[in-house]
Amino acid sequence: MQNQYELSLVIPVFNEQDNLLKLMQEIDSALKPLDLSYEVIFIDDGSTDASLAVLKDISETFTEARYISFEENRGQSAAFCAGFDEARAPKVATMDADLQNDPADLPAMLKLYAEGHQMVIGWRMKRRDVWIKRIASKIANSIRNRLTRESVKDTGCSLKIMDTEMVRAIPRFNGMHRFLPTLMKMQGASVSETKVNHRPRHQGVSKYGTLDRAIAGGYDLLGVRWLQSRHFSYKIKERGEKNS
Ligand code: UDP
Ligand code: MG
Repeated sequence: MQNQYELSLVIPVFNEQDNLLKLMQEIDSALKPLDLSYEVIFIDDGSTDASLAVLKDISETFTEARYISFEENRGQSAAFCAGFDEARAPKVATMDADLQNDPADLPAMLKLYAEGHQMVIGWRMKRRDVWIKRIASKIANSIRNRLTRESVKDTGCSLKIMDTEMVRAIPRFNGMHRFLPTLMKMQGASVSETKVNHRPRHQGVSKYGTLDRAIAGGYDLLGVRWLQSRHFSYKIKERGEKNS
């Protein structure tokens, strides 16, 4: 079953009813021309609008689409992890549901991935967010890079492709989605960045306040720094096999 699909798209959804159909159509247009078997897994993170009903319709219309729905809102990291567990392909692509990410970037990212990386991340060169968010994100990226000794331009971009087994093995916590490149590198992933398109949110409202996100991100950064400092890896030299 695991390898029936080549790519699993994992998309967290929290109150995105007016974005979902257009998103699915865009995914369809971007991926259908490729010779690729893919599935789209929407994770309804306890939406209180009509998102779940729309997802039911979409999964009936599009054979590639399916959904799981949380009892209650559990946050974007939890939704991503549920999607990673559900994925049936050896690689997963993540993206937001509000059409800020552009599925048309996926083919080039898949090509880059095929060059031998276990993670390809999007870099939103031209952010289409309000100024406060753009500045907050610049500051967050630079502090994060300094403390985690990284040079990732844009960890916050949800458009990513990752090795499914590796991403399943990373430590799970609320907010971990903001540190995926660092956490994937700790799993031994080669990480590559590429410029991607970014658009204004299509419909609905952002689910994050700038200050809340900065406080949560700062706190999590301390945890990730600690994880990095205590990280170990090992290579097995020999294994004593028993004939059974
Ligand atoms: N999201 C989610 N659960 C949450 C908050 C957000 O699944 O508790 C989803 C949301 O529906 C969207 C993505 O995460 O698909 C990013 O959220 P948003 O667009 O609000 O973030 P922003 O782009 O404003 O940073
Ligand atoms: Mg958004």
